[in-house]
Amino acid sequence: MEMDEATQPKDPPKISRLDDSVVNRIAAGEVIQRPVSAVKELVENSLDAHSTSISIVVKDGGLKLIQVSDDGHGIRYDDLPILCERHTTSKLSTFEDLQTVKSMGFRGEALASMTYVGHVTVTTITKGQLHGYRVSYRDGVMEHEPKACDAVKGTQIMVENLFYNMIARRKTLQNSADDYSKIVDLLSRFAIHHIHVGFSCRKHGAGRADVHTVAASSRLDAIRSVYGVSVARSLIKIEAADHNPSSSVFKMDGFISNSNYVAKKIIMVLYINDRLVECTALKRAVEIVYAATLPKASKPFIYMSIVLPPEHVDVNVHPTKREVSLLNQEVIIEKIQSVVESKLRNSNESRTFREQIVEQSPLGSISMDKDPNFSPSPSGSKSQKVPVHKMVRTDSLDPAGRLHAYLQVKPCGPLENNPSLTAVRSSVRQRRNPKEGADLTSIQELIDEIDCNCHSGLLEVVRHCTYVGMADDIFAVLQHDTHLYLANVVNLSKELMYQQVLRRFAHFNAMQLSDPAPIFELIMMALKEDNSDPGCHENDGLIEKIAEMNTELLKQKAGLLEDYFCVHIDIRGNLSRLPVILEQYTPDMDRVPEFVLCLGNDVDWEDEKNCFQSISAALGNFYAMHPPMLPNPSGDGMQFYKKRKPLRNPEDEENTPENIGDDTTGENEIEQELLSEAETVWAQREWSIQHVLFPSMRLFFKPPTSMATNGTFVRVASLEKLYKIFERC
Ligand code: ADP
Ligand code: MG
Repeated sequence: MEMDEATQPKDPPKISRLDDSVVNRIAAGEVIQRPVSAVKELVENSLDAHSTSISIVVKDGGLKLIQVSDDGHGIRYDDLPILCERHTTSKLSTFEDLQTVKSMGFRGEALASMTYVGHVTVTTITKGQLHGYRVSYRDGVMEHEPKACDAVKGTQIMVENLFYNMIARRKTLQNSADDYSKIVDLLSRFAIHHIHVGFSCRKHGAGRADVHTVAASSRLDAIRSVYGVSVARSLIKIEAADHNPSSSVFKMDGFISNSNYVAKKIIMVLYINDRLVECTALKRAVEIVYAATLPKASKPFIYMSIVLPPEHVDVNVHPTKREVSLLNQEVIIEKIQSVVESKLRNSNESRTFREQIVEQSPLGSISMDKDPNFSPSPSGSKSQKVPVHKMVRTDSLDPAGRLHAYLQVKPCGPLENNPSLTAVRSSVRQRRNPKEGADLTSIQELIDEIDCNCHSGLLEVVRHCTYVGMADDIFAVLQHDTHLYLANVVNLSKELMYQQVLRRFAHFNAMQLSDPAPIFELIMMALKEDNSDPGCHENDGLIEKIAEMNTELLKQKAGLLEDYFCVHIDIRGNLSRLPVILEQYTPDMDRVPEFVLCLGNDVDWEDEKNCFQSISAALGNFYAMHPPMLPNPSGDGMQFYKKRKPLRNPEDEENTPENIGDDTTGENEIEQELLSEAETVWAQREWSIQHVLFPSMRLFFKPPTSMATNGTFVRVASLEKLYKIFERC
C-alpha cells in the first residue's frame, strides 16, 4: 500500500521550555480575564488590608484606567521590590495554612498578573511614616526605585492600558458591552456584605458615583442604599443552621425576596466564609423553590452568607477563586432549600389571610341582586390558612398576585344557600374570566384524593432521602437513614408530574415549540407505531379515519386544553405550546405523538372531574422521565451503536491506522453521531433526575400508598447489616 507524504508518520515535535515571560503572560491572562476581574482582585486586597473606605475610578470600561484607593494598612517599603513578583504574598506561608486561610487573597498572583498585561503604579504609606512611596511595575519588576511622595493613609493602585499587549483580548473587550456595568454590579455585591466599609465607584471625570455607600448600621440599610427601597421593602430575613457533624455544620443568614418582588433576572449574592462566590447548584435549588412556590412569580433577589468551619471549604478549586467546594454540599443545599420554602410559604399565607379579611367585609353589605358583576372568589367565603400548593393566582398580569385558595364553596351563611344565586354567580364569573369558569371543586377533590392517599412512611423517605445514583435505566438508589432503597424513577416522575399538573391547574407557564407540529400527522405517527405490521395496508384507510376524527375532536377541545392545561392547538390544527410543569425540565419530544393520541383516545370529555383527571394523567405520562428511546450506551445498549457488518476475523477488529482507508472505507466501527446524541440525552436525563426530580419531590411529592407495594420503592439493604458483614470480612 502506498502512502503519500502527508500521511507519512513524522518525527515527534521537539519539546522545549517556554520563556518565563510567555509563561507569565499566559498565566496572567487566566487570572485577569477582563477588567472586572482586576477590580475584584484589587478590592479584595484592600479588604484584606482592613480598609474602612474603598473608592474606585474607572475609565473606558477599565481598559484605560482602573484606580483603587483604600485606607488600609499600606505596604512596607522593604516589600515593594517583590510586591509584584509572582507568588509573593503576606497571607500564606505553608500549604497547611491554606486550610484555615481567612483572607481573600493567598496565591500572590493578582498584582503580578496585572503587571504582565498592564501598567501598574502603586502609591502607599504605612502607619507612622512621614511620607509615602510611589513606584511603577512591568512584568513583575519595579521600573525604578520607589520615589518618596505625599500620601494619605493607605494604598492606591492604578492599572493603566490593560491588555495593551494582548491584541485579541483588547479587541473583543472593546467590541463587547462595557465592563463598567459589571464593575458596578460587583461593587454592589461587595457593599451589601461588607457593611462596615464605605464603597464608592465612579467613571473617570464623572461627578456622581454609581455606587456610594457609607458604613451602614444594618444589612437591610446597606441593601436599601445599593439596590433601592423597593427591593429592601420586599425582603424576608432567613436563617438556617446545622451543628451535627454527621450531616453538616454550617450557619446561614440572609435575605430573600417575597412574592411582591418583581424582576426578570435572578440576583443571587452569595458569600461563603466572607468570600464572594458562585454556586450554581445552590442557585438552581433556590430558583426551583421560587418557581414552584410562587407560580408565575418573578425571579428572586437573594443575599446569603454561609459560614462553615474553614477546613470544610476548599477555596483552591478555581484559579480566580470564584468557585469553592464544600464538604456535604448536598445536605447544606437541601437544608437551605427547605428554609427558603417554608419562609415563602409563610409569607404567602399571611398575604392570603390579609386579603381574605379585606374581601370578606363587602360580602355582607352588597347584595348580589344589585350588583350582578360582583363575583367573590371562592376563598372569600372562608378565611383560613391554606398550603401554597393549593393556591392559585387569580390575576396573572399582576405578578405580585393575589393568591386564592382552591377552596370548595361550602354552604355557609344565607347567601350561599340560595342555589340559583350560586348559579348566577358562576356564570358571571365564567364570562368575566374564562379561566375561573371551571368549578374548582373537581380539581380540589382530585388534590384531596392525593393528600388522603399519601403514605406517611414513604413521605418521610422522599423528604429526607439522599440521591445516590442510578442503578440502571429505571431505578435510582436512595439512602434514607441507614437504609438503601431502589426507586422507580419512571413511576415517581409520572406521579409527581400528575400531581403538579393538578396543583398548577390553569396557571402554567408556557413553553413554545420551535416547530409547531400538525396534530393529524402526530396521531398518524402514533397509530402506525401502535399497529406496526408492515404488510398490513388494508388498515391505512381506517387509521386515517381515526386520525381525522381525533384531530377534529382535539380542535374542538382546544379552548379547554389551552385555558386549563396550556396545551395550545392553533386553528390550523398545529400543536404549538406546552405547559411548564417543573421548572428547568422539558419532556422528551419523541413522546409527543403518543401524548396527542392519548388526548384523542383516552380522555373522558363528558364528566368534568374525569376529564381533568385523564388529561392530567396523560400529561403526567408524557412528562415522566422515561428512558430515552435511544438505548443507553453505557451497558448492553452499546451493541446498538456498532455498525452491523459481516462477521470478521477478530484480529481484523483492531482499528489500526493502516486499515482505515482500505476496504473498510467509511465503515466506522461505531456510529459516532448517533452515539454522541445518545450520550447527551442520557446525561441530560440523569441530570434532570438528580437536580429536578428529586429536589422537587422533596418539596411537593405525596407518594400514594400503592407505591409501597407495587415495586416503586424497594428496600434493598440496611447499612447496619452491611457494616456487620464487612466487619466480619
Ligand atoms: P495575594 O492577595 O494573593 O496575597 P496579591 O498579588 O493580590 O496577592 O497581593 C500581593 C501582596 O501585596 C499581598 O499579600 C499584600 O501583602 C500586598 N497588598 C496588595 N494590595 C494591598 C493593599 N491595597 N494594601 C495593603 N497591602 C496590599
Ligand atoms: Mg490579592
